[in-house]
Amino acid sequence: MKVSTSAGIAIEAEAVIPDGVTSSRRAVEPPLSIVSGSGARVTDADGNVFIDYVGGAGAVPLGHAHPGVAEAVARALRDGTTFGLGVTREEVELAARLVEEFPSADMVTFANSGTEANLVAARIARATTGRDTIVTLAECYHGHERLGTTRQARYNDPDSVTAALATGGVAAVILEPVAHNCCGTIEPAYGFLEAVRESCDTHGALLIFDEVMSWRHAAGGYQALAGVRPDITTTGKGLANGLPIGVVAGRRKPMSALVSGPRATMHFGTFNGNRASVAAALATLRAFEDGTARARMNSLGEDLREGLRALVQDAGIAAAVTGYGSVFSLVPLVEAGELRSVRDVARIDDGLLAGYRLELRKRGVLEKPDRDGLRGHVSAAHTPAHVELSLSAARSALRAALDARSIQHGLGAAEATD
Ligand code: PMP
Repeated sequence: MKVSTSAGIAIEAEAVIPDGVTSSRRAVEPPLSIVSGSGARVTDADGNVFIDYVGGAGAVPLGHAHPGVAEAVARALRDGTTFGLGVTREEVELAARLVEEFPSADMVTFANSGTEANLVAARIARATTGRDTIVTLAECYHGHERLGTTRQARYNDPDSVTAALATGGVAAVILEPVAHNCCGTIEPAYGFLEAVRESCDTHGALLIFDEVMSWRHAAGGYQALAGVRPDITTTGKGLANGLPIGVVAGRRKPMSALVSGPRATMHFGTFNGNRASVAAALATLRAFEDGTARARMNSLGEDLREGLRALVQDAGIAAAVTGYGSVFSLVPLVEAGELRSVRDVARIDDGLLAGYRLELRKRGVLEKPDRDGLRGHVSAAHTPAHVELSLSAARSALRAALDARSIQHGLGAAEATD
C-alpha cells in the first residue's frame, strides 16, 4: 500500500533517491511532502496548509497554479511541446518580448534553467573575447556551476573587481545586480554597478548580469532600475512561473557567437524553447504587464520587513532584517551588525534561525529551515491578510524559539552546577 503522509513518503524516498530529495538542500526535518499549491498557500500530505514563502525558491512570483499560466500551458500541451527542428512562433514572440523588455538586449536564446543560461553566457563571453577567465563575486550565486577558470572579487568592492580584471585574460565579470544568495539581500552601493561597467570596458571584458532572481523586481530586471546595461543578461526562475526556463539575452555582437559558421559556439538543448515553458513565460509576462502585480508584491514585502524589524526590536535580539522588493529575510545573529559580505555569514545564529523557522512552520508559515534558504518570497497572490497572519505567527515563533533556547541554557547551567 502506498503511504500518503510526509513522513511515510520520506521513508520511501530515502530508499530510491539519494538523500531523499532531488535537489541539494531540499531535505527538511520533520519531512515535508507538498501535494498541492494554490496562490500563496501550499498543502502537505498530512493536510496541513501553509502560507508559503519558499515560493519554489523564487520560481512562482505569481503564486502557485496561476490560472492564466495554467491555461496557457494546458493549451500548449494539447498541441505538442517538443519538436526538435526549426523554431515556433511562440519562441519568436517570447524572444521579441524580452528584447523589448531588456534595453540591453538585441537577441535572446533559451535554455532550461538559470544554471544553463549562465554557462551559455560564459561560453559566449569566452568566444567573443578569446579569453578564458570569468570573474565571479564572492557574495553572488555560484550554485554548482563549473565556469572553468574563475577569479573571485567582492561585491560592493569595485577595486577588487578592477584588480581581478587587471590581472588579464578576463572574458567576463558575472554578478547579480542585487545579490540575493549570500546573506539575505545585499543591494549595490551607490556607483558600484557603474564602476564595474566602466572597468569591464577599460579591460575589454564583457559584463554579465545574472538576473535569474532579480527579474522579479522589475520589467527588464534590476538593470532597468539601476540604469546600468550589461552586455549579456541571464534570467529564468520566476519567468515561467513554475516551469523550467533559462534565458540568455544580449547585445547583437556577443550573441552572434551563436550564429552558425565554422567558429560558432554550439548551444544545444532538446527542451530549449519547449512550448510548455514558453507558453508559461508569455502568460507570466502578460500577468506582470500592467505593473500592478509587482507593485503589490513589493509593497507587501516592505510591510513584512517593517513588521519583522518591529518584532526584532521588541524581542531585543541581535538580528538583521534584509531584503528588497518582494524578497525578505529575518536573520538572527550572534552579534549585532549588518550583513554586507560573505564574511558576515559567520555571524548568523544558526540555532536560533532553525528554531524560529521550525516554530514558524508549526504555526502554518513556510520558509526554508536554515541558512541555505534565507530568502523568503512574496508572490502576487499574497495579500495584506497573509502578511498580517505571518507577522503574528513570526512574533510568537520567535518568542517560542527564544524560550526553548533559554530553557536549554538554563538546563546546561543547572547541570554544570550539579
Ligand atoms: N542565478 C541566481 C542568481 C540564482 O538565484 C539561481 C538559483 N537560485 C541560479 C542562478 C540558478 O538557477 P537554476 O536553479 O534555475 O539553475
